[in-house]
Amino acid sequence: MRLKAALIGILLSAGPIGPAFSAEPLSLDRLTEPEIALLTSTRQALVPLVDARKREGTVSTITFEELYARLTPEQIAFAESFRKIEPKEIGGASRRLPAPAPETQFVRLDRQVVLREGKKVLLDTQVLPSGAHEAYERMMAAMEADLGRRLLVESGYRSPAYQLYLFLFYLPKHDYSVRETNRHVALPGCSEHGSPAFQAIDFISAGGINGEDRPEEFEELQEYGWLHARAREFGFQLSYPRGGESAFEPWHWHWHWEEPRA
Ligand SMILES: [Zn+2]
Repeated sequence: MRLKAALIGILLSAGPIGPAFSAEPLSLDRLTEPEIALLTSTRQALVPLVDARKREGTVSTITFEELYARLTPEQIAFAESFRKIEPKEIGGASRRLPAPAPETQFVRLDRQVVLREGKKVLLDTQVLPSGAHEAYERMMAAMEADLGRRLLVESGYRSPAYQLYLFLFYLPKHDYSVRETNRHVALPGCSEHGSPAFQAIDFISAGGINGEDRPEEFEELQEYGWLHARAREFGFQLSYPRGGESAFEPWHWHWHWEEPRA
């Protein structure tokens, strides 16, 4: 198996990219100046596409082919080098997770409304694999019965290609350190958001309390206490508890799908 994996690696780097642009291993502690320049140009090339797909509500299922169609061979090689990072090289809690099966069915959520500063705001469209969606709906029916309110999906499924884009997007916020960024944003192929067997949901309260803008308040929510008490009944677990290798994320829960026994 090791030999086969190595062979695929060689074929990829010698493929359409060409030897001149074969991806160098990245400087994980902090990108070098040439790498930062490549990152900037790559992000700039992708922003219009990602923004257009956000408006359409289809960004979370974007593919590598669609992203790479906008990039130069050098930028593609740079992007691919993030996919080649071995989780154990980078430390933290990273691990490779199963990719979505081709037959995965997705449910689109495009009418979610939250209150922000007293105003109703429509959330960006999210998608969930049908299994996780069904479990989420059952869990929310129980929460509504107990508390009279529910949590909404701020971020559901994100394809590995969209995860790569997000990783590139967040790198400057963590001073171009791949290791530090990885504590907050998983690498493509390692995110529970991109693996229906471990499908993650980032929750947001109906009052707009979420991880992105108001992380310290999420933990205080009654809904959060409810999840601790009952989420397991529906197959959901907190992924990044306090004191773990990844940053504490009280809003991020995953649903673990079990293969039915024959
Ligand atoms: Zn998350």
